[in-house]
Amino acid sequence: MRIRHLRGVRISNVFLVDGGPGDRFLVDTGHWSERATLVLALRRAGLWPSDLTGVLLTHRHSDHAGNARWLRERFGVRVYAHRADAEILEGREPVPHMERGEGSFLAGVLAQFENRWPARVPVDRALDDGDTIGSLEVHWVPGHTEGSVFFRHDRTRSLLSGDTLLTAIPPLVVRAGLALPYPTFTRDMKLARASIRAFHERAIDYDALLPGHGAPLMKDARKVFGEFLDKQGILDT
Ligand SMILES: [Zn+2]
Repeated sequence: MRIRHLRGVRISNVFLVDGGPGDRFLVDTGHWSERATLVLALRRAGLWPSDLTGVLLTHRHSDHAGNARWLRERFGVRVYAHRADAEILEGREPVPHMERGEGSFLAGVLAQFENRWPARVPVDRALDDGDTIGSLEVHWVPGHTEGSVFFRHDRTRSLLSGDTLLTAIPPLVVRAGLALPYPTFTRDMKLARASIRAFHERAIDYDALLPGHGAPLMKDARKVFGEFLDKQGILDT
């Protein structure tokens, strides 16, 4: 059992959680513009897309869910997402409009792309907080999107955090550093902060943080993030 960072995919992080046939999941899929890169990265891992058991989405944004529909239609890969994001991915709920707000000019441009080309995909199984899928636990942390989740992998003591905890500074995410979700791209910052706090206070342990953007943090991640959240005022009463 191992988790592999599919490094060729650049816009967002894609991880392969590989417990062998029948237990082989992709966590996020990258942006559609990196489709060929994603397939190449899978090939380097010795796999074809059809070898995947399923795709787990940390949330519905197009830089993470961008290839889910193609993988499902072309290779029959099952798609899993939290119930609240599934409703939007399936078009049963409208895609919430992103506003630049106090964000940077660049963030405003990226928001327009997301507004214009949101990810759409049928979801084979809607996830709920506390579910287990393969060897991963589902922890619902709404705020960045309605259905943002953490996936926790017990065997490798890893937390796959999507855009809810980052190790690169938004909106460009090229500069390293711990970060919270970026306001322009986040539905409800107050809720995101409350979700992060609630998760942290449950004292669920993990050593490695595998975020949606930025380099994986492989050691003492819970402690490092605890200190960061404290500095951000998230842990105050
Ligand atoms: Zn996002």
